Order: sequence, then C-alpha cells, then structure tokens
Amino acid sequence: MELNELLKELDTNLVIRKIEKSDKTLYLYCDIDCMIVKCKYCGTESHSVHSKYTRTISDLPIQNYQVKLIITVPKFFCTNEKCSHKTFAYPIPFADKNSLRTNRLDDYIYQIGMKSSSLDAEKQISGSHVSVSNNTILRIIKKKQSLSSIMR
Ligand SMILES: [Zn+2]
Repeated sequence: MELNELLKELDTNLVIRKIEKSDKTLYLYCDIDCMIVKCKYCGTESHSVHSKYTRTISDLPIQNYQVKLIITVPKFFCTNEKCSHKTFAYPIPFADKNSLRTNRLDDYIYQIGMKSSSLDAEKQISGSHVSVSNNTILRIIKKKQSLSSIMR
C-alpha cells in the first residue's frame, strides 16, 4: 500500500509533502489540505487561516521503521463575533489533544501491554520499532482503563 493511502486512513485531508529517512525512523512531513473548517466552539465555517504550527505525532511502524508524522496544522479565525474564541486549530481526528502518538498507535501499545508484563511489553514493542518507555506503556493502559470504566 502506498504511504499516502495509509495516511488517508487517519485523515483524508493529510497530504505528504516530504519524506526523510534515518536508520530507524521515517519522517513524514504532512500538510492538511482543507480549506474550510467548522469552528469547534460554535460550528461556524471558516476559511481564513490565522497561522500554522507544527505537531509531531508518532504512528504505527512501517516495516523496520518507526514513523513520525510532522504535521503543519492550520489555525483558523472564527468569523462569528459572538463566539468565545477568536481562533481555533484544525481538529486532528486521530490523536488526542497534546498526545505524541496517534490513537491507533496507543491502541497497539495497549493491546501488547495488556497481554504481557510491562517489561516484556516494552521489549516486544521496541522490537516492533516503536520507541516507548515503560512508564508510557503504563500510562496508556491506565488511561484506556479509566476511559472504559467511565463508559460502563
Ligand atoms: Zn467560533
């Protein structure tokens, strides 16, 4: 499968601009190809870009590489004068706010973490080209478990 297709599974607006490779890591520089976005606070559509910022998010490994997405994320002006926010960032659908990993990478780590002791999990996960610490594995498990106890 092509890289672009893999990324479209995350968000159809993601477009790869540049690819760089080191011995262990694939860096995918991405833009968000989206002209009109609804304000996440009031729902008004906006197409005027205020600024851009960069967010780095790790994704599932591809072959022997860990994958880092370096995404240029647009921020938009909200044109609704009554809105509580003047600007809002493009809502990235595949990673929690401030998360360094995609949700699907968290799921993957969680699945392995639940099956084995944390030290084994760390070995297994780093063997599959995801660099993540023991503490992070535990944090992901705790977060998912507290989420599912809220859902119950
Ligand atoms: Zn708004």
